[in-house]
Amino acid sequence: MSTKVRVRFAPSPTGPLHIGGVRTALYNYLFAKKHNGDFILRIEDTDQNRFVEGAEQYIIDSLNWCGIPYDEGPGKEGSFGPYRQSERADLYKDYAKKLIESGNAYYAFDTPEALDAQRKEHEEQGKTFIYNWHNRLKLDNSLALNKEEVQNKLDANLPYVVRFKSPEAETLPLTDEIRGNMEIDTSILDDKVLFKSDGLPTYHLANIVDDHLMEITHVIRGEEWLPSLALHVLLYRALGWNAPKFAHLPLILKPQGKGKLSKRDGDKMGFPVFPLEWKDPKTGEISSGYREENYLPEAMVNMLSFLGWNPGTEQEFFNLPELVSAFELSRVHKSGAKFDPEKTKWFQQHYLQLQDDATLAAQFQEILEAKGVKSEEDFTIKIVSLLKERAVFVDDLWELSNYFFIAPTLLDPKASKKAWKEDTNDILENLIAIVSSVQPYTTENLQTEIKEWITSNEIGFGKVMQPLRLALVGSLQGPDVFEIAYLLGREETIKRIRFAQQAN
Ligand code: GLU
Repeated sequence: MSTKVRVRFAPSPTGPLHIGGVRTALYNYLFAKKHNGDFILRIEDTDQNRFVEGAEQYIIDSLNWCGIPYDEGPGKEGSFGPYRQSERADLYKDYAKKLIESGNAYYAFDTPEALDAQRKEHEEQGKTFIYNWHNRLKLDNSLALNKEEVQNKLDANLPYVVRFKSPEAETLPLTDEIRGNMEIDTSILDDKVLFKSDGLPTYHLANIVDDHLMEITHVIRGEEWLPSLALHVLLYRALGWNAPKFAHLPLILKPQGKGKLSKRDGDKMGFPVFPLEWKDPKTGEISSGYREENYLPEAMVNMLSFLGWNPGTEQEFFNLPELVSAFELSRVHKSGAKFDPEKTKWFQQHYLQLQDDATLAAQFQEILEAKGVKSEEDFTIKIVSLLKERAVFVDDLWELSNYFFIAPTLLDPKASKKAWKEDTNDILENLIAIVSSVQPYTTENLQTEIKEWITSNEIGFGKVMQPLRLALVGSLQGPDVFEIAYLLGREETIKRIRFAQQAN
């Protein structure tokens, strides 16, 4: 029997989740569901200095909004909990001890001042200080001290950290599901801290221990963790555990293509880099979110799915179930993916069109109410169905349709100049007569009768249609003018034509 696929998204609750993080979660979700596996949310909150109030809830809300809920995690206890590392704190110390006993880790008593002095000294000589095989026997640790000295320091409760003893001069093979095979010379690794003086593990130890205990089969995470891969593989080996498979996702780049997409790029260019709006609990600063900017989650998910992956076909629109079946780790790109805010709008427009008229109308109705406009539901549905193809966001509908709800009081002067000729008022008088008598009052009948009248009187179409449009809309914009006249109704149409006659 093959083992069940189990993947995890393991964010640190240090602030709002960047869309890069959402993409990591999405790819994990897609991979899990494709293989009938489990998608786990683990909160990596061992760094208490960086803890931010509200960030965990933000992460959970974001995943839910995207429609990619986790199977196990905070609030959804499975058999591998708890899922917050702060609640697992007691667990890690034993593993640090085991590593010391097996000779894979050691106590280091170097004070922050001593390490700073080392760093400075190295800097002065143009070198970087690395704590590893080349100097560890000269530093203040249990490799350099004898047993008794170490015991004395421990008994005296002197602060210590536990460091990993990285092997010297070994060629370590590494495999990444996206990047393939690599090799690394372990001599360049530093002896990372695994356990801190505050009694908590660092990211590296906690991450490995939890991935093992939670039976994670595939670690899918951002490229920024690739430099940690060697240490992680060595830790698995030192603990005598099988390592999961690893896949490191490419960076999301600025729209210009150079450098990582940052919050500042979004601020500068006017697009959100967070799924939901976020208010910084300390500064009160607000960062915009896709949800509050009226994007549909389907649009964001589809856009994110293509940032670093493609299906190898021409198809670009994928809903979540389609993504689940099309997604392959092997089709994830190695190189960075350029973020394209316009493309997001293109997806948004597509998914807006897929919404049914009644759903959109209900949302539009709220916008109308906020503007103090009363509209019958049926009428709003008709307006939505007429204009939605021109809208990217629900609130565009107001811009596109306000003249249906509020009669123009000002006719676009430039358009008036263009459309109004000497005989226009007379022409409109004839139109009023037709509009008054059309039976029944339908778009088709209006169109047939007005067109017949134009043809039989040998008048140019523009001479009639432009002033009519201007009267009804206030400008020369908008959809089919007969449709507008129909939706406005006989009385309102005549009223508007009369108003335009007087205004010109
Ligand atoms: N806590 C790490 C982060 O915030 C997790 C990295 C990993 O997935 O191993 O990104």
